[in-house]
Amino acid sequence: MPELPEVETVRRGLVQALLCKRFSDVFVYRSDLRFPIPENFCSALKGRTVSELVRRGKYIVGILDSGCAFILHLGMSGRAKIFDSQTPYHPEKHDHVMLETEDGIRIVYHDPRRFGFIRLEDAAKWQELPPFDRMGPEPMAEEHVFNGQILREVLLSRSGPVKNVLLDQRVVAGLGNIYVCEALFDAGISPERSAYSLGESECSRLARSIRKILERAIDAGGSTLRDYQKTDGSLGYFQHQFSVYGREGRPCGGCDCGKGAVVRTVQAGRSTFSCPVKQV
Ligand SMILES: [Zn+2]
Repeated sequence: MPELPEVETVRRGLVQALLCKRFSDVFVYRSDLRFPIPENFCSALKGRTVSELVRRGKYIVGILDSGCAFILHLGMSGRAKIFDSQTPYHPEKHDHVMLETEDGIRIVYHDPRRFGFIRLEDAAKWQELPPFDRMGPEPMAEEHVFNGQILREVLLSRSGPVKNVLLDQRVVAGLGNIYVCEALFDAGISPERSAYSLGESECSRLARSIRKILERAIDAGGSTLRDYQKTDGSLGYFQHQFSVYGREGRPCGGCDCGKGAVVRTVQAGRSTFSCPVKQV
């Protein structure tokens, strides 16, 4: 499931392909995604230029010169495929939307599980609408937007395990199961700890780890971005070395615990991977 780094990778790919480009054609092959694609989607985009592409949490927001914004969420399995003007494109299974720019680039939204969705909103107001109105700080933003102290203030009012609390987009934007596990491992904090029990220095450590883990993953995504046209043109998923995620029973990456076996537990119905020695 795409989390902040994967969504950011898709955004950067779309910036290269779409920014300041005009849509010459828009096709919807299948509109029943998690929410139906708006009926006026094609007419709202056709002939319009993308003036800005931003990311907020796990959402990509494209601002059009008409004052309209399209908001994309990749759901569980959404991808963007980009075809240059030299590459023939034939719609494949699970291709739901195709955008064509004036210079012949085609961007295809591909989503086998159809949990993703696209909305149209007023570009001046999208930030005031749910879920953006209550979304937590961007963890990659400047130090004054997200730091240990800001994180601690939110965690102090939460009694649940820190692992579950960090998945709440109102606490921090963009984190999902993978990067929460990795950040807690990096910070040496047990996923079972009550959120409010984390002290000042632990919160600083955790905030730094979140930033570091995400930066690293975005760098890994950046290297696939340079190669994506050599593969199948799809963006947003990349091979990335995890320390604990998906490594049950295997050594914890870069851990000096000596025992070296990642443990899998289940919290709120989702797998948690951790090192019981390093994380306390
Ligand atoms: Zn370990």
